Amino acid sequence: MTSAIGDLAHTLRQSRYTVVLTGAGVSTESDIPDFRGSGGLWKKLDSMKLLSLDTLYYEPELFYTEGLELLNTMRGKQPNAAHKALAWLEQRSLVQAVITQNIDGLHYESGSKRVLEMHGNLRTCSCLRCGAKTSFDLLVDAASRGEIPPKCRCGGTLRPDVVFFGDPMPPSFQEAIQEAQQADLMLVVGSSLQVAPVSYLPSLARQLAIVNLEPTPYDRAARIVIHDKAGIVLSKLVEHIKANLL
Ligand SMILES: [Zn+2]
Repeated sequence: MTSAIGDLAHTLRQSRYTVVLTGAGVSTESDIPDFRGSGGLWKKLDSMKLLSLDTLYYEPELFYTEGLELLNTMRGKQPNAAHKALAWLEQRSLVQAVITQNIDGLHYESGSKRVLEMHGNLRTCSCLRCGAKTSFDLLVDAASRGEIPPKCRCGGTLRPDVVFFGDPMPPSFQEAIQEAQQADLMLVVGSSLQVAPVSYLPSLARQLAIVNLEPTPYDRAARIVIHDKAGIVLSKLVEHIKANLL
């Protein structure tokens, strides 16, 4: 792996504009389950149905108990070595943006500034009637008091600002397309690139580097492929770059 790390460091330094695309594999080391990975919960029809617009609208009781419980398993976690390495690379201007499929907010918590969240977040929720945004904690508190569905001041239902099955992509997806189009290098970390339409983004970048435990459909098109854990690889990458700066 050492030579692959060296290649990656070299490619990163040569690139004028690098965009990172992260998936669940970046958060598993923060003890957040990979819901969409092999054997993951999202693969089961139950969970896909649970966190869908249909359930939100027609079975709010189910959505705001079991569905909310599933979302809550992703809260209160700490950034890991992979998040910290990506924040460090951004500070050194070696990374220009992070596009993420994760909703846990750990890129922000680790200090990354330019983060595009493709599947929403767990910081806020929105009113289905008036569109007002409020903190996600309010929604959780209301649901735990038995206020189901939780209501906005206007009486409308509050929903998590997470992209569920049946939801359109958020405006940040257009930004992500622009980022990918101007990228000299897209570094994919911890994503098997299976979830559309985000899985389309790597095809827009000039060069690809992939760090993921499992093979991805883009491995053959990538300049560098490392099948290992995100935290291990990115920590070594940072060490390698630091050593060469001395
Ligand atoms: Zn409202």
